[in-house]
Amino acid sequence: GLPPLYIITPTYPRAEQVPELTRTAQTLMNVPNVVWIVSEDSTVASTSVVQYLNESGLNTVYLHVQMPSRYKKVGNKPRGVANRMAGLNWVRENAKDGVLYFADDDNTYDIRIFEQIRWTRKVSMFPVGLVTKLGVSTPIVKEGKVVGFYDGWIAKRTFPVDMAGFAVNVQYLLERPLASMPYKVGYEEDGFIKSLGIKASEIEPLAFNCTKIWVWHTQTKKNEPAKPINHTIATLGTNL
Ligand code: UDP
Ligand code: MN
Repeated sequence: GLPPLYIITPTYPRAEQVPELTRTAQTLMNVPNVVWIVSEDSTVASTSVVQYLNESGLNTVYLHVQMPSRYKKVGNKPRGVANRMAGLNWVRENAKDGVLYFADDDNTYDIRIFEQIRWTRKVSMFPVGLVTKLGVSTPIVKEGKVVGFYDGWIAKRTFPVDMAGFAVNVQYLLERPLASMPYKVGYEEDGFIKSLGIKASEIEPLAFNCTKIWVWHTQTKKNEPAKPINHTIATLGTNL
């Protein structure tokens, strides 16, 4: 059969959480042989999330772990690191083969990217749209090899790529038990990929030599959180 895809989605409680997970779930419903690891940044399991995952019919794993409190206070938080690491540890303990991919809950995915990452031998990379004001973050490919990166924020990173712009073979990951993601805002991807010890020359460019955008770093605007209001008055308006 097809190699399994282990898709780790970090998520956190807010009004947009179930809507975002619904979009991601309904994308993954079009992809065969997926284990969807939803890892929530919370001390407690959100009932609405657990219930939605159970109803979805997808092959899901639900985890929850809170971001260490020392990071909760700072303005620019290392968002999704603790929960991605929990997902990674689950993969280490439960997976033997296949491919790992980090899929944030608010991105947009063309399902063609899933069929291509499935055949990743070590580490594959591909463009991500709507990243920085340049509008795309992508490896630069020459004669089938990654020779550089185009990204609006290089910042001395060896691998200036977005979290949604790479996938890792599970056996390759299992051979690197020390690989991990740093709690360092902006450097999560670079730190993780460097910890895998991959050489730039070994990276497998996907999406037709990085000429197609099949994933976008969409961001959802903050909506009005549900407040305890008087729904009777709010919905009826005027009593005639
Ligand atoms: N996230 C999280 N905890 C937080 C904030 C975000 O787990 O406190 C998750 C979020 O659901 C998303 C990922 O981490 O899957 C990246 O967060 P976000 O989309 O807010 O960051 P951005 O894409 O704007 O960098
Ligand atoms: Mn996001």
